[in-house]
Amino acid sequence: MDIYFHPTYTDVENATETTRKSQLIATSLYTDPIPNVRVVSPMDFTGEAERLAAVAHSRAYLEAVRTGTPTDVARSNGLAWCPNLYGMAIAHSAGLVAAVDTALAGDTTSGSLSSGLHHASRTAGMGFCTINGVAVAVYAALARGAANVLVLDIDAHCGGGTFDILGADPRFTQIDVSTSFTYDRFPASGNHRRIPAHSGDYLQRIEEALDHAASLHAPDLVVVNAGMDPVNDGVPVDDMAVRERLVRDFVGSTPAVFAIAGGYGWGGHSYDDIVSWHRLTISEWASR
Ligand SMILES: [Zn+2]
Repeated sequence: MDIYFHPTYTDVENATETTRKSQLIATSLYTDPIPNVRVVSPMDFTGEAERLAAVAHSRAYLEAVRTGTPTDVARSNGLAWCPNLYGMAIAHSAGLVAAVDTALAGDTTSGSLSSGLHHASRTAGMGFCTINGVAVAVYAALARGAANVLVLDIDAHCGGGTFDILGADPRFTQIDVSTSFTYDRFPASGNHRRIPAHSGDYLQRIEEALDHAASLHAPDLVVVNAGMDPVNDGVPVDDMAVRERLVRDFVGSTPAVFAIAGGYGWGGHSYDDIVSWHRLTISEWASR
């Protein structure tokens, strides 16, 4: 399984989990390989990612991300602005475009060590998210002829930015299972199903989401925003491992891609912990 990463993913001054952990995960894949996983550069897809980001976002917002002004818009993602911010965010999106290309061309699965995506709306960043690479991935799939795309957003937080961008497109369906309501700015409606969950009922809510997904028209591509930050809301790591198995079972033979999304040090967790959580996703996907 090809997984996309490039050091540009971490090439910003602001040091947070979102802007640092991908390198640590990639390094772990070299020092402690997972069978059947190959780390590949997505940088050939940078041009397409830029073009699709310009479809997803307003010109004024992207210009602010590029130039740093106006300051409130440039910093709406909650990160300090630096000149590399735009290139960093585009690289994360390029990883998902590359993964979509691989998944659809090879009728297979792929992923990218991308995060900082799903809260970014058409006109602003939010919650460490700058460019909405989930939306960019959907656009990349539609451009390749996919008739319908399912976004399964199982990050702790709701992917409202993705729905803000794509909600009116009938080729797009989004199902969220959320344990946190911090960035809940875009209410779910229509083709967006929102399932609140708590640490005690988390796997039941995941099964409910997957049952609902299975009842829909079969998608041509599944995009999984596989945040591990439910752990930060108290979901046991063992349950997260089960979640990854259930989601991968649901995906079956449908082309699918994952982004790593959230997963933080809150609650006394180390970067080693965070890397080990995201490796659960990679191991499960690479084992089929
Ligand atoms: Zn999150």
